[in-house]
Amino acid sequence: MKVLVIGSGSREHALVLALSRDPQVDAVIAAPGNPGIAAIAHTEAVDASDASAVTALAERLDVDLVVVGPEAPLVAGVADALREASFPVFGPSAEAAHLEGSKAFAKEIMEAAGVPTARTVVAYTTDEAAAAIDDFGAPYVVKADGLAAGKGVVVTTDRQAALDHAHSCLEVSDRVVIEDYLDGPEVSLFVLCDGSRTVPLAPAQDFKRIGDGDTGPNTGGMGAYSPLPWAPAGMVDDIVSTVSQPVVDEMARRGTPFTGLLYCGLALTSKGLRVVEFNVRFGDPETQSVLARLRTPLGQTLLAAAEGRLDEVGDLDWDPRTAVTVVMAAGGYPDSPRTGDVIRGLETADALEAISVLHAGTRSAEATVTDEAALDLDAAGEVVTAGGRVLSVVALGADLDEARARAYAAVDEISWDGEQHRNDIAEAAAAGRIALSPIYASP
Ligand code: AMP
Repeated sequence: MKVLVIGSGSREHALVLALSRDPQVDAVIAAPGNPGIAAIAHTEAVDASDASAVTALAERLDVDLVVVGPEAPLVAGVADALREASFPVFGPSAEAAHLEGSKAFAKEIMEAAGVPTARTVVAYTTDEAAAAIDDFGAPYVVKADGLAAGKGVVVTTDRQAALDHAHSCLEVSDRVVIEDYLDGPEVSLFVLCDGSRTVPLAPAQDFKRIGDGDTGPNTGGMGAYSPLPWAPAGMVDDIVSTVSQPVVDEMARRGTPFTGLLYCGLALTSKGLRVVEFNVRFGDPETQSVLARLRTPLGQTLLAAAEGRLDEVGDLDWDPRTAVTVVMAAGGYPDSPRTGDVIRGLETADALEAISVLHAGTRSAEATVTDEAALDLDAAGEVVTAGGRVLSVVALGADLDEARARAYAAVDEISWDGEQHRNDIAEAAAAGRIALSPIYASP
């Protein structure tokens, strides 16, 4: 089986690694990939959101499955174009991708499917937004309606900051979403969908803010771990029966079946499970932790989902160890990441026990990402920063303490000017400090 992976982040690096472990996968090609992916797989230069270019590439390579990593190509209809050309695709149609592309649409589906979520008001003017902000009260939650790479949401107790964000959202869109604040720990659950059936992966938790102690602005994600030792018993089954299956049923009922990965972002609030958001693709950085533990062959499983055969896939098999991912970001991220800083210590870190160093915003200093020269990192010379989130360091360990210790030992080996990472990924969970409302069952 020949698999084409679309995208260039650490998530795609993790997908390529996991797909390569599947004995039925003979070749993995990434487009456009990055220098880390190029060291383990063939890469092809292509604009990931250019549907006809991606389809032409799939035809030229004669692939058996296409896995679309990021949201932008999905919203741009890349999966539709590939399906039209008869390729099995793991990734939803542009219409189904609205679940992520429009928060207002996601709310509409949740309401129709009876899925618990925060109460929401969609405002079309700054006056309506101000009225909604005052009606909900602090802490304020103000969200851009379109795709914003995880950075379109402001959660604040500062009324003026909430008003300002609503105003800036309305400058680029005709609407802004204001909603109830959800308390309680957050969970990310990835669910494989084949249009009618759903199979959950292991739950994870990610860290959205840039700073330790969940301070500073939201980012694409600064770290993650899986599984969750504190998760209430039966949580995954509850999420499937109250969230992912009803959503998949509702999408099918509307004639826009969902095939691909439904990422359910939830809060375990004092009033019960509530959906915070949906994404329509593997989440980054949770994927790096989740796939590090997956033992079930990934290629065959994603192909079964793409072909509507998830009934042939039983429960997934997991490495009993814990995975912790620490994201290393460029100086200035998330506002204005600086690029071109030389990265030191990559090989030393990657050689450590139970460590994978996955690339995202990196570039080979003497070659462009997709040059042949980038196939050999040594020959290509130095690797430099080329984006906001630069690397994901993934560690496996017997428990959270061991996985954290390994991850941070590897992070310590890697450096570049301005590098930033959080020091508290999975710390609260390791210390047993995640507070669950008494309404939940014990783990
Ligand atoms: P989203 O883009 O909707 O996932 O939001 C990004 C992050 O903002 C979430 O992971 C939460 O940490 C936070 N957030 C979003 N909505 C809410 C809410 N209603 N209450 C509390 N926090 C929220």
